[in-house]
Amino acid sequence: MPDPSGEKPDPSVEKPDRQACETRLRKVQAEVDAAAQAAGRSPEEVTLLAISKTKPAALIQIFLDLGVRHFGENRVQEAAEKWPALRVGKQVDLHLVGPLQTNKVRQAIDVFDVIQTLDREKLARALAKHKDADGFPKLYIQVNSGAEPQKSGVLVQDLPEFYALCMELGLTIDGLMSIPPLDEAAGPHFELLAELAAQYGLPNVSMGMSNDFPTAIALGATHVRVGTALFGQRDTP
Ligand SMILES: *Cc1c(COP(=O)(O)O)cnc(C)c1O
Repeated sequence: MPDPSGEKPDPSVEKPDRQACETRLRKVQAEVDAAAQAAGRSPEEVTLLAISKTKPAALIQIFLDLGVRHFGENRVQEAAEKWPALRVGKQVDLHLVGPLQTNKVRQAIDVFDVIQTLDREKLARALAKHKDADGFPKLYIQVNSGAEPQKSGVLVQDLPEFYALCMELGLTIDGLMSIPPLDEAAGPHFELLAELAAQYGLPNVSMGMSNDFPTAIALGATHVRVGTALFGQRDTP
């Protein structure tokens, strides 16, 4: 959105710096590979999800040109505006990593390949109505491992019941996702999430962001969600 005061440059008209993007991508990818290798894991086990929320299409296009195919967005509407054009002719894998309102479920199913933020009964029921639709996305349950009241996600103690409900509704769960508390060491939260995923036999564990993805990889992440370290700072969260 252009700033009406005209003081801030509109990032969508600023010329994106291709060289800087490539440098950041190579650095992050090298860190992903190094963290996997240090943990005795194959780098192919870890998918780098480029979190492109708030970033303009021209900047995302650079990462597509550099070969990135796995992306995440946190708003359905924003993704619906940017991605249908960006992904034409490419095998893009687009993940929703932000909260999903039930009135946006239909649109989210059309836009996303994976919904990482299944976090409550009402949403599970709304998704289940479309479970046989063509291109129905893969689903991860978001776990609020820090039991933070302001944060979305199923509490750890409620996970067995919620998982059972998803099964009853005929939803296939493909993984778990979490955003650990900002003010705590992330390690124990990552360990817990990986342990829970193993308990349920779920192949995908989405955890780790720009400032802690190597730790997440050491503790079993299959998907790390990296925004700032790839795209640069965001003006809004
Ligand atoms: C924004 C966001 C990220 C990326 O955060 P960075 O710190 O910029 O890497 C990861 N996961 C979720 C759920 C997000 O909303």
